[in-house]
Amino acid sequence: MKRIVVFPGSFDPITLGHVSIVKRAIPLFDKIIISIGINSEKKNMFALEKRILWIEQIFKSEPKIVVESYSGLTIDFCKKKEANYILRGLRTSADFEFERGIGQVNKKLAEDIETIFLLAEPQYTPISSSIIRDVIRNGGDASSMIPKEVVL
Ligand code: ADP
Repeated sequence: MKRIVVFPGSFDPITLGHVSIVKRAIPLFDKIIISIGINSEKKNMFALEKRILWIEQIFKSEPKIVVESYSGLTIDFCKKKEANYILRGLRTSADFEFERGIGQVNKKLAEDIETIFLLAEPQYTPISSSIIRDVIRNGGDASSMIPKEVVL
């Protein structure tokens, strides 16, 4: 059976922290679906098309990686894509507490889907899309925290 993993998130925008998690997952899985969740209640800074294009450009030479968007439950999207794994990154204990709830509920809802966590590399621990949006909104330079393909 192929090991297919969904890496869900908003990626608004994708950061060096996300890229690090995806790259480290390449040897672990046969296919990685970077999955942009569409949440109608969440106001995004960057258009979905832009977020998809940036990710496609970053990983264009990596055949195992695809980008898709989805709405609804992540486990339903996983089933549709025949993915048995969900990938998440952990930066802090706050991430852990948040992820624990979601991961345990997902396991209740879909017994055969496992959530796999990779610890953030220390240099990327302070990086989050929300901090980057804040820096950008206030005219700061976020270039050291985002891939060069993310052209603002
Ligand atoms: P969400 O809106 O679901 O939090 P994000 O796009 O913010 O989605 O993040 C997607 C995933 O990437 C989450 O598992 C998050 O913990 C992880 N992540 C975000 N930033 C980093 C980082 N700097 N290092 C490692 N993992 C990260």
